[in-house]
Amino acid sequence: MSHLHRMEEQTRGSAEELRRAVVIGGGIGGMMAARVLADHFDEVVVIERDHIPPGVENRPGVPQARHLHFLMKRGLMVVEQLFPGVRADLLAAGSHLLDQGTDFRILYRYGWSPRVKLGLELITFTRPLLEATIRRHLLPHPKVRFVEGFEVAGLSSRADLSAVTGVRIVPRRRGEGESEEQILQAELVVDSSGRTSPAPQWLESLGYAAPEEAEVDAFWGYATRIYQPPAHIAKDWQTLLVMNRPPYQPRAGIIQPIEGGRWLVSLAGVMHDYPPTDDEGFLNFARSLSAPDLYNAISQAKPLTRIWGYRRTSNRLRQYDRLSRLPQGFVALGDSVCAFNPVYGLGMTLTGLEVEELARCLRTSDGGRTLDPLAFQKAVGKLVTAPWALTTGEDLRWPATQGGEITAKVKLLHWYIDQVIRLIPQSPEVFLAFQEVNHMIKGPESLFRPRVLFRVLKQALAPAKAAPKTLPVPATVHAGAEARTSTVTLHR
Ligand SMILES: Cc1cc2nc3c(=O)[nH]c(=O)nc-3n(C[C@H](O)[C@H](O)[C@H](O)COP(=O)(O)OP(=O)(O)OC[C@H]3O[C@@H](n4cnc5c(N)ncnc54)[C@H](O)[C@@H]3O)c2cc1C
Repeated sequence: MSHLHRMEEQTRGSAEELRRAVVIGGGIGGMMAARVLADHFDEVVVIERDHIPPGVENRPGVPQARHLHFLMKRGLMVVEQLFPGVRADLLAAGSHLLDQGTDFRILYRYGWSPRVKLGLELITFTRPLLEATIRRHLLPHPKVRFVEGFEVAGLSSRADLSAVTGVRIVPRRRGEGESEEQILQAELVVDSSGRTSPAPQWLESLGYAAPEEAEVDAFWGYATRIYQPPAHIAKDWQTLLVMNRPPYQPRAGIIQPIEGGRWLVSLAGVMHDYPPTDDEGFLNFARSLSAPDLYNAISQAKPLTRIWGYRRTSNRLRQYDRLSRLPQGFVALGDSVCAFNPVYGLGMTLTGLEVEELARCLRTSDGGRTLDPLAFQKAVGKLVTAPWALTTGEDLRWPATQGGEITAKVKLLHWYIDQVIRLIPQSPEVFLAFQEVNHMIKGPESLFRPRVLFRVLKQALAPAKAAPKTLPVPATVHAGAEARTSTVTLHR
């Protein structure tokens, strides 16, 4: 049976007979959105361009999936609320639920994180395991159809262009008679097709303005490899994270436990200091981090995979919320609207919060019948504002960063966050405040609560201490994009 016919069979009836929503993209945002739409529509069709592999495997549509992925506490809460049991299933499959305090060793700019229980857990996995687990919970839903191997090529609209009426679909693998485009009608179309979403062009072709884009790029790159840990290793961590040190030390690395008792090791470099993807280069890069612990650990471990690289890491925001009009029946969320530099691990959690907002809008708009797309995009814009300011602000610490502006507000933020990070090694309370913001349990304003503010001011007013002599400044890094540092230096 052809893909086209199979899809026609899979998508029953027409939008006149039933209320149908279409979700573009079956990634994390798409699956979460489908779940909330199913509470209001008769049918929800998820169109995914990839053919989904049978097991827990990578697929071409989410190239980022080979690299470090975890869910912050807030993100896990959202996923678990939408799909009760996902957390237990992940743990049963070998995921790790880790306390951000006791299970982590984190080397910040001014020293190691305190070993205290924070009550902020994050869950680790490979991204394919997360996707496969959520998919297993979504697919049995009687109202959800997951259509694989079809790509959305555009939107269809009313003759007067006032509303989107569906999507134009083409099969990914075209066989005989399958090159034709098909229109799938829908009352609501949700774009969750990720960072490369062509939705702005689709809107333009309907006579609407494309959203303006803001981009801040610090030129981060990742290299990732999975290891079998050594049978015996003296360590006091589950996850080891060695941070970089702006503006001097551009390199960072992490060892994260994943399913199968394995380690996922990601190295990251900023300002074009991309980690190499060959054996020797990868190890040398690991050796050049600000502490030798990560290198020591992986040099005793057995590589299980090749090394994968990734460089599409800019912060990119499409300002749908600033448009003066949008057609009825179309909204966008997830990376399609705002894709962050992944180093901060925010993307899936924020996408989850946007889906929660979609659920709220559906509840207050008669199940989507009177949904105002601009109001939804404005709400998404509000959710994105603080994380955008924090992540781009951090990236603006690096001299090679393109886009954005170092305003007085950014300078103040740099100073304040730097003071907070300086306090972390000696203050469990400040560490908790910092991580509550990272986990999106509290907003960034909580970093200014009196007890934290007081400590920051006390520290700032104290006579300046000499910079920690164990953190040297590799002089070569300032030389520009090609610069490399090889000194290993910070010890506990
Ligand atoms: C290296 C890296 C590491 C990351 N680590 C983390 C982390 O630790 N924690 C975290 O929370 N976030 C992390 N992120 C961010 C996270 O991957 C994204 O924020 C998240 O996947 C966004 O979900 P989405 O549904 O918007 O897009 P995606 O998950 O990218 O899904 C988009 C889907 O749409 C499909 N698609 C695209 N175009 C079409 C089309 N025309 N028709 C049909 N289907 C289409 C794609 O095949 C894909 O399945 C990381 C990102 C990167 C790059």
